[in-house]
Amino acid sequence: MHADRAAIATALAALDADALRRQRRVIDYYPQPHDGTRASVGGRPVRVFCSNDYLGLAHHPELAAALQAASTRFGVGSGAAHLITGHSQPHHQLEAELAEYTGRERALLFSTGYMANLGVLGTFAERTEAVLEDRLNHASLIDAARVCGARLLRYAHADVPAAAAMLDAHPDCTLIATDGLFSMDGDVAPLRELAALAHRHRAWLLVDDAHGLGVLGARGRGALELAGLDSTGAPLLVGTLGKALGCAGAFVAGDSELIELVLQRARTYIYTTALPPALAAAASAALRLAQREGWRRDKLHTLVARLRSGAAALGLPLMASDSPIQPLLVGDAARALRLSDALFELGYWVTAIRPPTVPAGSARLRLTLSAAHSESDVDQLLVVLERVWRMDLAA
Ligand code: PMP
Repeated sequence: MHADRAAIATALAALDADALRRQRRVIDYYPQPHDGTRASVGGRPVRVFCSNDYLGLAHHPELAAALQAASTRFGVGSGAAHLITGHSQPHHQLEAELAEYTGRERALLFSTGYMANLGVLGTFAERTEAVLEDRLNHASLIDAARVCGARLLRYAHADVPAAAAMLDAHPDCTLIATDGLFSMDGDVAPLRELAALAHRHRAWLLVDDAHGLGVLGARGRGALELAGLDSTGAPLLVGTLGKALGCAGAFVAGDSELIELVLQRARTYIYTTALPPALAAAASAALRLAQREGWRRDKLHTLVARLRSGAAALGLPLMASDSPIQPLLVGDAARALRLSDALFELGYWVTAIRPPTVPAGSARLRLTLSAAHSESDVDQLLVVLERVWRMDLAA
């Protein structure tokens, strides 16, 4: 694009015409006592049904206390990258705890999940090789393949035979990457089958379980626990700290040597300021809470079941998902936006997810639940959803 104001105006107008312009809503404050399920936005009280704070930990006083205490001891900023002076005891301890939590030899922190994916994929995929990815993978995995210069091959969503055919046709493919729990669909990848494929083709399997960690599996260890896979089946596990664990940041976990190579090679690890140490301390507190308070996961799954059975009774087309991500398929982007705005007017905050985040024609309302929601929150959400859905159909 040339340095031309008219071209900018045209690009923005095109987004408006396609109902694809994104807008931020500013949270003024969270009403006390806050648990993240209610917020004030532009003076309007709303119930929040679209955050990734699945276990309701982001507002937990133990996390805030850990953050405060560690910032007093270690400062607010980390001061430098991990390999300079940015790596402190709270980071080191959190890495050990994450390794233990995920049942792996070692974990390495990254400042964001986006950077973790860029760094890990770039470590194991060479420019001359190919990387195989699910078509609905998170943007950071797609971008990671592009940034590292490997050839990007994409198979239809969760289509294992298609993935197998592509591997047969491309012996230069050295890495398969998939979301564990798909962020916009709420379904789980066919991990056992992908692990078998990866093994057969001597390719690495990278599972980004940003959304499954803390939520799925009998012990909350995520999509890999659900699939019964350890580091032999899925050698590279990326997890984030900004979703179920209520903080920010990310990590990769795996066998020691693999992780050591990431530390040595990943440019998004080496060339960026380390996560604030206090945030690492808060994430340690979150990890302890997630393990100590298994009721959070249980409650979350009860709420999911309640939402699904209520939606089925009302004829609302929720997509197939057993996770706290419960998308309501709309199709048209403009309609999704209209529905989201109508819900917001009624005090319910549910984002419309539109292309390019999801494929054209599959715009949706992405409902998410948190363990901090109550059963009556879910029941009331269903009432307004139905009202808005019917009114829009009739319009
Ligand atoms: N992977 C997946 C599957 C995600 O959904 C996200 C965040 N939306 C990320 C990675 C990126 O994580 P972060 O927000 O920590 O950059």
